[in-house]
Amino acid sequence: MKPILVTQPSLPDLKEFTKSLEKIWESKWLTNNGQFHQEFERELAKHLGVPYISLFSNGTLALMTALQVLDIQGEVITTPYSFVATTHAMLWNNITPVFCDIDLVYGNLDPDKIEALITDKTTAIVPVHVYGNPVEVEKIEKIANKYNLKVIYDAAHAFGVEKDKKSILNFGDLSVLSFHATKTFNTIEGGAIVCHDAETKKKIDYLKNFGFENETSVVQVGINAKMNELQAAFGLLQLKNIDRDIVKRKKVAEIYQEGLNHIKGIRFLNDIPGVKHNYSYFPIFIEKDYPLTRDELYQKLKDHQIFARRYFYPLISDFEMYRNLESTNPTKLINAVIVANEVICLPIYPKLDEEIILDISHLINISNE
Ligand SMILES: *Cc1c(COP(=O)(O)O)cnc(C)c1O
Repeated sequence: MKPILVTQPSLPDLKEFTKSLEKIWESKWLTNNGQFHQEFERELAKHLGVPYISLFSNGTLALMTALQVLDIQGEVITTPYSFVATTHAMLWNNITPVFCDIDLVYGNLDPDKIEALITDKTTAIVPVHVYGNPVEVEKIEKIANKYNLKVIYDAAHAFGVEKDKKSILNFGDLSVLSFHATKTFNTIEGGAIVCHDAETKKKIDYLKNFGFENETSVVQVGINAKMNELQAAFGLLQLKNIDRDIVKRKKVAEIYQEGLNHIKGIRFLNDIPGVKHNYSYFPIFIEKDYPLTRDELYQKLKDHQIFARRYFYPLISDFEMYRNLESTNPTKLINAVIVANEVICLPIYPKLDEEIILDISHLINISNE
């Protein structure tokens, strides 16, 4: 059997991409806000239903720039249950992450636990829409307003997600996307920042291009985080397929839900009313009354060439550079410890065969053996 990985990237039609490449070859314009970059930004903003978007070469540089453009300093309240880039972007900017516990169902930052962590050094909250499930944005907004804090959403998983028919990317001061090859929507590598006004977009665009305002003036210590023309042309074609891809992902999720229903000790997430999901991940949670431990099931799948992933285990707070932070106290991150020890993300991607989904469900259903 061929190995089945947790994801498989969608690719644009090769002939169409070749046509785009021919245009690039002709123009000799490879990066620095070229035709494809401009068109992709316009089309992406339209597709996502957001007012302003700035493209980046990857999501991590977009996160680092988001912290810079809002001049975030001191302490930032965030989650230990995420990909390590969420907080690496903070350390890289000399900011101290303060880990807040998560909820036991979705694994998202628990807004009710934020206030207790606020100090006179706190400047921002950085929640993550884990697996694309929206964080409780209204509660976070309330806290942010009360304490005058900025909010940057790590929306790396949340491409196309809507709540009550409104893009989830419109909440907070900024939202950051990743278009890495493993994400629902990819530009090979890539990312973006969504913001609400032209002035902020301008500042973000300066920052991602060394801080250049024009040929002779540098307004801030910027970085080089620009998306190039090949990525932009690739992304533009990807936009044609993304809606169809999400429908296919939904189908995969439904087959899993059907197959895993009623298996004792296996919990999975159902759709949330009012939310348009993107089905970027299919996490299951292995509870105590399941006959195998999480790691035993993970290994069993592996033995059958199913390479599921334990997103997010270990917790960020368990990595060496975070272990000595004051907020890294497992007794205060109780839910995060539980969820990280229960999770397995099963393979999900548009081209995943129904037969394989059923095989995986059967492997998990121990009573089949
Ligand atoms: C993928 C990811 C990132 C980083 O994005 P890159 O484009 O890979 O740099 C950041 N945060 C989360 C939650 C992610 O999943």
